[in-house]
Amino acid sequence: MKKMVFISGSSRGIGLSILKKLLKENYIVIGTSTSDKGKQLIDKTIQESGGEGIGLVGDLRNGSETVKKWVEEINAHFGCLPDILVANAGITDDQLTLRMKESQWVDVININLTGSFLLSQAFLRNMVKRKWGRFIFLGSVSAFGNPGQINYAASKAGIAGLSRTLAIEYGSRNITSNVIAPGFIQTDMTDTISEDHSKQLLNKIPLGRYGRSDEVAELVSFLASENADYISGQTIQINGAMITS
Ligand code: NAP
Repeated sequence: MKKMVFISGSSRGIGLSILKKLLKENYIVIGTSTSDKGKQLIDKTIQESGGEGIGLVGDLRNGSETVKKWVEEINAHFGCLPDILVANAGITDDQLTLRMKESQWVDVININLTGSFLLSQAFLRNMVKRKWGRFIFLGSVSAFGNPGQINYAASKAGIAGLSRTLAIEYGSRNITSNVIAPGFIQTDMTDTISEDHSKQLLNKIPLGRYGRSDEVAELVSFLASENADYISGQTIQINGAMITS
């Protein structure tokens, strides 16, 4: 039977690459965007692939309201909930700690961390009943701490704790939970980095380049597969051997 995967934030960047990869592998895919335009792009991608799935609109700033709406839409369309969650949607809003506004902290934590928690909780019961499930979270190398990113670093470090807790609580139900922690991947998120900063970053990456979103999608595809049955509670770095200290 085909497995169903939910990928938050799949209108562009890493999420879109994951959506395309999993479509090729015959999963039923559900992708999300904050805009109608993003949803249309997801629907078109699914249609052109000849695969099965739907695009949904929603903003994780609205927390459980959005997640509840998505759950209702998925149930109405498919009559069941996903077997696999890829919690990918995320934002940055950088500022040095002394200048960071509470609103910047709250937004990043709500979207990146609380959003991932609410999605996990919403799909967990179904996975427990089926005695099979996969949680795959997008963390970051910034979880180790990064200047100007106290909100983002805290959200991604939080995701590591969240994922490991799921792995421990629900391992007995054959549910695995892992974090993929990318270094620098060429997407809209990294396009805002200045040329000077980019040069400094590349000096810290022995492989001498940013990663590509399709390279992250390969790792997601492996972790989602039966071949990864015994990998759980891990954070897997994908960063070109980036020097983090
Ligand atoms: P991106 O290109 O900026 O795309 C972000 C995605 O998240 C979009 O699909 C966007 O949807 C969605 N999104 C943004 N705000 C949202 C909100 N409020 N509610 C729901 N969805 C929202 O990002 P990316 O570079 O692909 O990053 C994907 C994930 O990897 C993130 O969790 C990021 O932290 C992590 N990561 C990325 C890098 C990197 O170097 N790129 C490194 C480490 C970790 P719409 O555009 O349709 O609104």
